[in-house]
Amino acid sequence: MHAEIISVGTELTTGAKLDTNSQWLSLELAEIGIPVLAHLTISDDLDAMVAAIHAAADRSEIVLLTGGLGPTLDDLTREALAKFANVELVQHLPSFEHVKSMFAKRNRPMPERNVIQSMFPAGSEPLPNPRGTAPGIWMISTRPDGSQSRIAAMPGVPSEMKQMFRQQVLPRLDGRGQVIRRARINLFGVGESQAEEILGDLTARGRDPDVGITVHEATITLRITATAPTVDDCRNKIERAKTAILNRMGTLVFGVEDEELEHALVRLLLQRRATLSTAESGTGGLLAHRLTGVVGFESCYMGGVVVPTNAAKRELVSVDPMLIRQYGPISAEVALAIAKGCRQRFGTNFALAVSEWPEFDPDDPLASVPASFVALAGPKGTKVEKVQHFGDPAIAKSRTAKVAMNLLRLHLIQG
Ligand code: AMP
Ligand code: MG
Repeated sequence: MHAEIISVGTELTTGAKLDTNSQWLSLELAEIGIPVLAHLTISDDLDAMVAAIHAAADRSEIVLLTGGLGPTLDDLTREALAKFANVELVQHLPSFEHVKSMFAKRNRPMPERNVIQSMFPAGSEPLPNPRGTAPGIWMISTRPDGSQSRIAAMPGVPSEMKQMFRQQVLPRLDGRGQVIRRARINLFGVGESQAEEILGDLTARGRDPDVGITVHEATITLRITATAPTVDDCRNKIERAKTAILNRMGTLVFGVEDEELEHALVRLLLQRRATLSTAESGTGGLLAHRLTGVVGFESCYMGGVVVPTNAAKRELVSVDPMLIRQYGPISAEVALAIAKGCRQRFGTNFALAVSEWPEFDPDDPLASVPASFVALAGPKGTKVEKVQHFGDPAIAKSRTAKVAMNLLRLHLIQG
């Protein structure tokens, strides 16, 4: 059994408004184990709507519509459903009374057009709408082979739609007695395909629980989806999958759910009562920005400077200009000197430094791959890492900041 969702409204097809109802409904359906085959977005056009309802009802046992139930001339969902079912619109008196009473409550006369909101395709059932004037519509359509499709039309206003779905539609949809639970594991330091290789059979299609991989600015997220008769069964499946993933991925894993590298790093620094400062060139303060976004950072992050010029490197973190002349600003030597100078200046246990990198054009096949250097200075010495900037220049800053944070994270775990 599966469902499809039709969202109706020219404001959606023109791009003026984003269809958030379909996303919300899909997540709700997943909770009761009903997969969604398609999202359709249709403008306020009668024939296009009828065609969409036909297509959806032919394929799927559940069809959910939102939008187009208002009183104005462009609200055509009820007409479309009547045309689809080949029936007339007939008045439902209790709904007429409801619409009238909604206006009475607001001390306003009921416009003639609102009478349409008490009209329903013959044979359908009105779904009460306590929040607004437009009742929803519940309809069963039978295919030539005798199988059935259940159709619900709900208002477009998200708050009305959500209440009607939970109170009226959900009880009419029996799922497969299954619930779905999800979990995310975040890792850094390998590419997507490499992660897939390490995970091997865990990400195979059709495995239960399902493990999918997505990547965002070089952070890899493993998305675990478990389906089972109870929430506890789902949790057990997820725990087993998490253990298997941790066994294979080890210290590549830094967090779960919405956690970013900065959260993992601040947590480790707080646990070890260690302090950090930063000096950045190429990342222009992104490290400082990210670290200061973590709750509790004040106890471990003591401050940072941006050092894009030779003068700033000299004035702010005491880098010897001779060193820059000798090795160039983009070098392991200068990155290390920045880290050491920063550590001294702020009096912290650790300091992270990021050098600049040359501008580059990833579409130029002859351009050499530019690189930057990320350095760490700590009580037991220094570390430096070269970051090669192949790929999307738009994520170079973010990725480099992450490499820097990951350098210290791994140092804290291992040391
Ligand atoms: P309607 O029921 O078509 O009159 O829609 C009423 C209002 O609900 C619209 O003006 C939109 O602002 C909003 N709306 C309609 N459909 C959606 C949707 N699919 N996602 C988010 N908002 C919607
Ligand atoms: Mg509309």
